[in-house]
Amino acid sequence: MQNDNLINNLAYLKLLHLRDNIHEIAAEAARQQMTHMDFFDAAIQAEIREKQERAVNRRVRDARFPYLKTIEAFDWTYPSRINTDHIRHLMKLHWVPRAHNIAFVGPPGTGKTHLAIALAHQACMHRYNVRFSTVSDVINELQAARHAGNFPQTFKRYTSADVLVLDEIGYLPIRQDGAELLFQLISAKYEHNSIILTTNCGFKHWPAIFENDATITSALLDRFLHHCEKVLIDGSSYRMSDVESE
Ligand code: ADP
Ligand code: MG
Repeated sequence: MQNDNLINNLAYLKLLHLRDNIHEIAAEAARQQMTHMDFFDAAIQAEIREKQERAVNRRVRDARFPYLKTIEAFDWTYPSRINTDHIRHLMKLHWVPRAHNIAFVGPPGTGKTHLAIALAHQACMHRYNVRFSTVSDVINELQAARHAGNFPQTFKRYTSADVLVLDEIGYLPIRQDGAELLFQLISAKYEHNSIILTTNCGFKHWPAIFENDATITSALLDRFLHHCEKVLIDGSSYRMSDVESE
């Protein structure tokens, strides 16, 4: 076939969008009577757009979100208390390069996980590496990795994420070993990269989560809260809103 050599060379250079679409792009250039320079520009731009889209998709996949939620889908009128402007400001992601943390604090069903996912997804769109996990899954995975002898690699997956979402602190008690692993993780990320956490439990009640170990709780909170934007949400559970309207 004609242009086989060109197709092979585009594949060799990993210009895969051009490889698959070069005939359409060339036909469009002819239709629009583009100059050679404009054609070249359009072709390269199309490849870059496609590459960036693939990279975003890869980051979203690697983040392991349980599902996707957007800020557009959030009903700001539902919670009885929420600072909309603050959250819209956080969507600009100024906190990520500063390695600051975010804490969503509020009762169950008020949209903490929803907003954490929306923010973390926004970070994926802006080329940050993201990892989502419930806090109990992180602890279980780190404990399992220690037994399996691959702790450093597993630990690094969490510490290297520009944004780590630690979902659902406070629902389940965390025993001493889990608290120590969590402390290790928060310390490793401190002033290095960001954590978004969600909790149903105000910070002054946190010792109760950690078997009333005030020492480890304050050591952990001291680091986490040093550079942290707190988002307090209050209201009834959105999960119950369907039930109530029936
Ligand atoms: P939380 O993490 O605070 O317990 P979730 O974020 O899991 O709550 O919210 C529970 C469900 O209700 C999710 O499906 C979420 O998308 C939805 N939800 C919660 N608050 C809102 C809201 N204000 N607008 C739209 N959907 C909401
Ligand atoms: Mg939640």
